[in-house]
Amino acid sequence: MLRGRAPREYARRTIEGGPFFSVKPPPFDYHAPSSLQEALELLGQFGTDAKVLAGGQSLVPLLNLRLARPAHLIDINGLESEIGQVRTNNGGLAIGAMTRQRTAEKSSVISERYPLLAEALPLIGHIQIRNRGTIGGSLAHADPASELPAVALVLDADLVVRSKSRGERVIKADSFFVSFLTTALEPDELLVEVRLPGWPSGAGWSYQEISRRHGDFAMVGVACLVRLNAGGAIAEARLAYTGAAPSPVRSREAEQFLAGQQPSTDAFAEAAEHAAKVLDPASDVHASAAYRLHVAKVLTRRALQVAVSRATGGAA
Ligand SMILES: Cc1cc2nc3c(=O)[nH]c(=O)nc-3n(C[C@H](O)[C@H](O)[C@H](O)COP(=O)(O)OP(=O)(O)OC[C@H]3O[C@@H](n4cnc5c(N)ncnc54)[C@H](O)[C@@H]3O)c2cc1C
Repeated sequence: MLRGRAPREYARRTIEGGPFFSVKPPPFDYHAPSSLQEALELLGQFGTDAKVLAGGQSLVPLLNLRLARPAHLIDINGLESEIGQVRTNNGGLAIGAMTRQRTAEKSSVISERYPLLAEALPLIGHIQIRNRGTIGGSLAHADPASELPAVALVLDADLVVRSKSRGERVIKADSFFVSFLTTALEPDELLVEVRLPGWPSGAGWSYQEISRRHGDFAMVGVACLVRLNAGGAIAEARLAYTGAAPSPVRSREAEQFLAGQQPSTDAFAEAAEHAAKVLDPASDVHASAAYRLHVAKVLTRRALQVAVSRATGGAA
């Protein structure tokens, strides 16, 4: 379930105390609010003692392994009609936090207007996972091996969060992902919506990742978006990484290097070296840190090539 530094964390916690692997959650009080207001009241009341249950695809294993021990579980599955819709928004798109990953994957507005997101969604686990897993749950969980945080970074998404006492706050994706499984969400806040600005005109895109088997978490992945100017040079490039650092990370240095460059294999290779400077992958049973870093550079070159080809109208 957890990747990156997580296996070390499992080992540390199991050595420090408790049975090796429990498969039953610790006891908790279960709440099933039927409105957003009710959910926010519960979160305001229980705060750090509570956990929100969305699709349960990450939280339930954590409960069963007793790596999460909330006294209160706030099940927000009754809020789908309020925060589970996809709608157009000021030339962009607003995706409710409770939108199932599979619903987003099948959404024609997403596949037509946000092809990078459409390319990444089917790479999340298996259909069964995506049937339950939510867009908001994946972002709030902030697993650095997840696809959606990297896509949110590249698309400059706004994360809309709500609390009973402070109302609404909009957090840029860049500031939302803080560290391993940690976001800027306060304990009394609920992620309610993801807002994507309009797709940059003419942009090419690519999501590349390597995993051991179809449906596994990626060992490393990269989300990429490229715009070219009239002369064919790179006007703007965006690169964000999955599984290559303690949190999802964007490489501004590589992006700055690419701006103004004519697309070429040499420029892509140099960009990959710049990108590697912000990457800090972990070693685990699936791959060494050195291998992950190597793959991240290969995928950077590949993603840039595909994105540029798509920006010039190629099929890639
Ligand atoms: C076998 C398996 C394979 C998987 N493979 C992948 C993969 O390849 N790529 C990938 O990205 N994911 C993968 N996942 C994880 C999956 O995408 C989860 O759906 C996702 O990580 C969490 O979404 P969820 O809706 O299930 O959230 P939950 O598990 O319910 O919650 C996860 C965390 O987010 C919090 N949370 C949820 N919603 C909100 C909200 N609206 N506001 C505030 N906090 C919230 C919860 O309190 C909890 O801490 C896999 C899962 C499994 C079981």
